[in-house]
Amino acid sequence: MKLEYEELLKDVGKMSPKPNMLDYGDIYQNFDWKEIEGQLKSLDDGKANMAYECIDKHLETELKDKLAFIWEGLDGAIEKYTFARFSEETNKFANLLKKHGIKKGDRVFVFLERVPELYVVFFGVLKIGAIIGPLFSAFGPEAVKDRLEDSGAKLLITSPNLKRKVKSILHELPDLHHLVIVNKRGGPVEYEDKDICYEKEMAEASTSFEIEPTNREDYSVMHYTSGTTGKPKGVVHAHQAIIGQYATAKYALDLKEDDIYWCTADPGWVTGTSYGMFGPWSNGVTQILYEGGFNASKWYQIIQDYKVTAWYTAPTAIRMLMKAGDELPGQYDLSRLRHICSVGEPLNPEAVVWGEKAMGLAFHDNWWQTETGAIMIANYAIQNIRPGSMGRPFPGIQADILDDQYNPVPAGEEGQLALKPGWPSMFRTYWNREDYYNSRFKNDWYITGDKAYKDEDGYFWFVGRADDVINTAGHLVGPFEVESVLIQHPAVAEAGVIGKPDPIVMEVVKAFVSLKEGYVQSEQLRREIRVFVKKKLAGWACPREIDFLDSLPKTRSGKIMRRLLKSRDLGLPDGDISTLED
Ligand code: ATP
Ligand code: MG
Repeated sequence: MKLEYEELLKDVGKMSPKPNMLDYGDIYQNFDWKEIEGQLKSLDDGKANMAYECIDKHLETELKDKLAFIWEGLDGAIEKYTFARFSEETNKFANLLKKHGIKKGDRVFVFLERVPELYVVFFGVLKIGAIIGPLFSAFGPEAVKDRLEDSGAKLLITSPNLKRKVKSILHELPDLHHLVIVNKRGGPVEYEDKDICYEKEMAEASTSFEIEPTNREDYSVMHYTSGTTGKPKGVVHAHQAIIGQYATAKYALDLKEDDIYWCTADPGWVTGTSYGMFGPWSNGVTQILYEGGFNASKWYQIIQDYKVTAWYTAPTAIRMLMKAGDELPGQYDLSRLRHICSVGEPLNPEAVVWGEKAMGLAFHDNWWQTETGAIMIANYAIQNIRPGSMGRPFPGIQADILDDQYNPVPAGEEGQLALKPGWPSMFRTYWNREDYYNSRFKNDWYITGDKAYKDEDGYFWFVGRADDVINTAGHLVGPFEVESVLIQHPAVAEAGVIGKPDPIVMEVVKAFVSLKEGYVQSEQLRREIRVFVKKKLAGWACPREIDFLDSLPKTRSGKIMRRLLKSRDLGLPDGDISTLED
């Protein structure tokens, strides 16, 4: 399908006077990671510590008393941390860990609501050289158990409420030596043998700590993937990932020191750490942290009240904002926003255009994975956006499209999206699954598991997850192109498309849609949607069946779970649903 983006090509509404990247072609040609490393002091002698790069290095500059973050709680409470305070608190927590025998390489997990202490413990763990693993606070007992068991976690940081939720599995984890209980809101707590009272021990801990001089290759963060396509995998990163996160926050998200930046992603998902912590803080940027989840009015309010200038969110959230109506953004002062970005799922062209219409800014889509650690392909502030495209490879990144023998194909041909290994934030292993890790590398390429094509100008276009691509009557159909057309219909809020097995044509295209407010499902509407899609897509790509759902099953990071649409449609078992949102 040819997306008709030309007519939509426009300059971004309010581009900052001077984007950090001024000439993509020039930088891409002459890029050298060494130059970026030069900007990160602690890498000089092969050492790197992410906590140093994000917090303590600023203490030697005028950023010391700048706000690292402003946090707003669900109850309206507000807390502000300067880099200096952030450093002291994280030092205290590192001392607490040391006292309880946590050492370099140990796995420590955090299962907390999105409160400031989550960020404090996160960096305290990095300061001591242990490996930090974040968990969504919405996880149930089994999801928590799977991850702690798989990683052999030694210590878990949690809250009284969340401990209660997972109490049943805690005694099944022989490696788990301690629980640190953060009692933020001060209710009564019963401490048990393994429990450490955060408030008490933090009050006693020293504010000075010598950061563990970790090597670049020492493990730092462990993230379980979103579970969109199957059982989540424990992706392990090394301290030098900070090089990629620092560079991409600067040149892809275009962050500058005077920005007020808001990343809506939960730290349980890689976007919430790579770009809700590492990227912005290594650049000395002030972040807004909001404890709550999605709420259209509240979100616009946050952008207005905190004068947010740079915003990073996800397609599902954007589609929900679209669903909440075009009038809503006009009721808020969003005039400080200058750069807005999206990641996590394909961003439908419709959503890019909506941003321009509703907020005067186009969403800049970018592509990456838990495994890549940082943005790999992006639309940059300096250039026009091609709605529907993920953009072009980040400088220092070689991306290409390969055939089934893992050889590059010409522009315009679909194939497997692959990356040349060796970029700084590349994952180092899947925990306990070394064979699977090795199997992801073929012919000197890292195979991403996504299908895409690139156009003559080097822009990459997402087709679908390799598993999701539909084979119908000899044609390959990417679910994304069909979904993008479906959501152009005025009644459709969200769409998920699958291939349904068929004895004659192998698979037929089947769509699941949820409707915008004010629309009611009916046979008539179903027909209308089909006619609408038929005008825009080849016959074989048109959904043979359309089902209406109130909402589509999604992961906690907001990704449509097509595998669940499929298994449920076919009456098959659900598989791992630990990351399914409620
Ligand atoms: P799992 O690996 O457990 O199935 P997941 O792949 O969804 O889960 P993540 O690492 O969070 O876990 O997501 C990375 C994937 O998200 C990419 O491989 C891609 O399929 C999708 N993705 C991310 N950004 C984009 C984008 N801008 N456009 C299209 N797809 C995207
Ligand atoms: Mg994946």
